[in-house]
Amino acid sequence: MLGSDEAKALHAEHPAIDLHADSLMWTRWIGYDLHKRHTPPLPRAALGGHVDVPRMRDGGMCAQFFGLVSLPLAYGQRGMARVIDEQIDALEETILRGPADLVLVRTPADLAAARAAGQMAALLGIEGAHALEGDLDRLDAFARRGVRYLGISHFSANEAAFPAYGRGRDDTKGLTAFGFDLVRRCEAAGVVVDLAHINKRGFLDACGVATRPPIVSHTGVLGAFDHWRNIDDEQLRAVADLGGVVGVIFCPRFVGGDGLDPVVAHFMHILDVVGEEACALGSDWDGFIVPTAPLADPTGLPLLTDALLRKGVSRAAIGKLLHGNVVRVLGDCQAPG
Ligand SMILES: [Zn+2]
Repeated sequence: MLGSDEAKALHAEHPAIDLHADSLMWTRWIGYDLHKRHTPPLPRAALGGHVDVPRMRDGGMCAQFFGLVSLPLAYGQRGMARVIDEQIDALEETILRGPADLVLVRTPADLAAARAAGQMAALLGIEGAHALEGDLDRLDAFARRGVRYLGISHFSANEAAFPAYGRGRDDTKGLTAFGFDLVRRCEAAGVVVDLAHINKRGFLDACGVATRPPIVSHTGVLGAFDHWRNIDDEQLRAVADLGGVVGVIFCPRFVGGDGLDPVVAHFMHILDVVGEEACALGSDWDGFIVPTAPLADPTGLPLLTDALLRKGVSRAAIGKLLHGNVVRVLGDCQAPG
């Protein structure tokens, strides 16, 4: 395991949970096997092949949220929900096939049980409400299969909202009536609202109606680097005021350069503006990005921990950033009963 003894100890106590990796897209497409250790053939250029169970273990992780993606640019097409189901099928088949090193979890109690059993945990989130094909009942069906967050938007306008970037972009428009219903329905179903990719108006609309903590599963912040993919301080405060968390993305294009320093700068800005309760990891591994070199796969996470320690971030804050904050949000958003 990479990193200092202090970083290793921190990860042993607060094993990392990452909010977004699109690995199941690759499992569905090419049978990418999460049980096996992979070595990307072109480490600096690889768009996928970042996450697997052995490297999660080496990186001091306990859980990975897998994003479920259906045609990011599509809208109004049929069959998008099926693509989501097929990615969940792919995970279930992977888990059934064994070895018993990976388990699908939903709650903090499940997470703790997986950790006690020495298993890595998989959590599920959907990227883009177009996957519901306009039918809110599908949300409940996905929740029953274990989906714990829903990204309202991806790269196209849909029934609920408009994207920060992509097809049908319209920065003057916020959530639609369907979008407002969707936020309420998510909260009732125990599905965390994910505000990655949505435009600012929709973002603030969702925060305005939310009563549970939302997340931004993978993003940068404008206070650290000016890019359309990043959110501003008003958005940060809106999420933090609700007790939500923001996962920092590891993509050099969005954080403003390669290496650990740009990623750390985004964490420092979030810590500065809204504090240690609001920080989380949001790698975007396997999501058609080339991650920053030291964080090209989960094994680099303890190096990020060391970089944060060098910046003077407290051990308690790092523990929350790696683990505690996401566990808290999962608990706060659990469906009643
Ligand atoms: Zn994304």
